Amino acid sequence: MAIDNSLARHVVAVIGGATAGSEVAHILAQRGAVVAVIEQNPRPYGKIEDGLPRWHVKQRRDEYEEINSRLDHPEIEFVPLTRLGRDLQFNDLAQNWGFSAIVLANGAWRDRPFPVEGADQFTDRGLIYQNSLIYWFNHYPEKDYSGPRYELAPGGIVVGGGLASIDVVKVLQIETTLTALARRNIEEDMVKLEREGIEPVLKEHGLVWAQLEVAPCKLYYRRRVLDMPLSDIPAAANPKRAEALRMARAKILEKAQRKYLFQFQELRAPTGLIERDGRLTGLRLSRTEVVDSQARIIPGTDEEVRGPFVVSSIGSIPERIAEIPQQGEVYRYVDSRAGLLIDGPTPVFAAGNVLTGKGNIKDSLDSGTEIGTRVAESYLGLSEERLPLAEVERNRAHEQGENLAVAIAAKPALSAQTVARLRVRIKQLQAARGYDGNYRAWIAKVTPPDLR
Ligand SMILES: Cc1cc2nc3c(=O)[nH]c(=O)nc-3n(C[C@H](O)[C@H](O)[C@H](O)COP(=O)(O)OP(=O)(O)OC[C@H]3O[C@@H](n4cnc5c(N)ncnc54)[C@H](O)[C@@H]3O)c2cc1C
Repeated sequence: MAIDNSLARHVVAVIGGATAGSEVAHILAQRGAVVAVIEQNPRPYGKIEDGLPRWHVKQRRDEYEEINSRLDHPEIEFVPLTRLGRDLQFNDLAQNWGFSAIVLANGAWRDRPFPVEGADQFTDRGLIYQNSLIYWFNHYPEKDYSGPRYELAPGGIVVGGGLASIDVVKVLQIETTLTALARRNIEEDMVKLEREGIEPVLKEHGLVWAQLEVAPCKLYYRRRVLDMPLSDIPAAANPKRAEALRMARAKILEKAQRKYLFQFQELRAPTGLIERDGRLTGLRLSRTEVVDSQARIIPGTDEEVRGPFVVSSIGSIPERIAEIPQQGEVYRYVDSRAGLLIDGPTPVFAAGNVLTGKGNIKDSLDSGTEIGTRVAESYLGLSEERLPLAEVERNRAHEQGENLAVAIAAKPALSAQTVARLRVRIKQLQAARGYDGNYRAWIAKVTPPDLR
């Protein structure tokens, strides 16, 4: 087979080493580029490690290895524990280093702000954002975990409606069930509760849910259940088909409720906060109506809802980078098809979730068929099917990587001197983090023995 060396004497910085970053980096390195993968964390697994709840045991483990196999390449220089915006400044990287290109594959990690003014003063004092909650859930059993800790009392309030909000209510229901069982000196397995559902596991102990005397959590959604973005409805679907797909969403929710026993209320939106002693202890929720697909608040209909905490699960968006112009919640593109953010001697591209501006990508699926529903049910543990979770995203990143390779190859190659200088600077970054160039050895060193 002919060796493709079209990117020889190009050096590219990829920010973020997870599903998208590792795929793009691998493609560029295969074509002869030197690729610095700059990753804020010790391990490069992104949403797979910190965003997909840890009951996806096998999918997460498989995906860790997929990412490892891509980053373990002689032309990829992994730079761990280095955060753009903290340890490296964007302008410096884009204007002074002399890279052939920069690729932002840093995902969508910013929770969309809770839509009631003043809410953020209660962050982690009654208001919990979804990304922090799932991070905690995934990591708190580790012996050396030192992040924030959440006490999940029964009866939590969740505001959301997408797949990730179903993850949240599952976490709350599973955690409160485990605690209630522990009070009865029964030790149960989190993964078993997720797989089998709450009632069947309780039954094994001769119990039913009501006997636990724990208030279930409740999910509030601003539109109708039929509008929940759990599975996609293709724009081309005819009205009959669209209706059938909407009904499928109601079925997904119904199955999830039956299995995890959470409550649900459609057509409610938060319009006020209830606080006590500096903590958020509830919300004022108003009724809504859906007009032209938008939720419209009906004035004068607000009611108080109280609970031990509120989880905001209304979407993840890319973190702001001061130097990159924004258009609403996402970055502004010079050419969005090519993912080109900034043109110039060092062009800046985007790939993965950062490009779609979304924290999960189920809606990228070609859901002309029932695939959207199948993926959603598999993802939520409502079917026996176990689909590889990041495959769609990887395929998409693959395509983006191929396009990037063509765009970069069209640029003049760097001088041998510039390549050598960049290599030295990248090595210096690695050395400052104690990384000696052996990817597999590093991963072995920084993986806690009890990482799930
Ligand atoms: C609820 C939910 C549902 C999902 N559903 C699907 C699905 O249906 N199908 C599917 O394929 N996938 C799904 N996923 C998986 C997820 O969306 C994919 O893993 C996706 O591949 C994200 O990849 P990414 O590389 O774009 O972003 P991320 O995995 O977020 O990776 C970004 C990386 O960049 C790093 N980073 C961030 N900021 C910086 C910085 N400033 N400096 C340096 N490094 C930085 C992060 O540490 C991280 O490693 C789902 C995830 C969730 C949470």
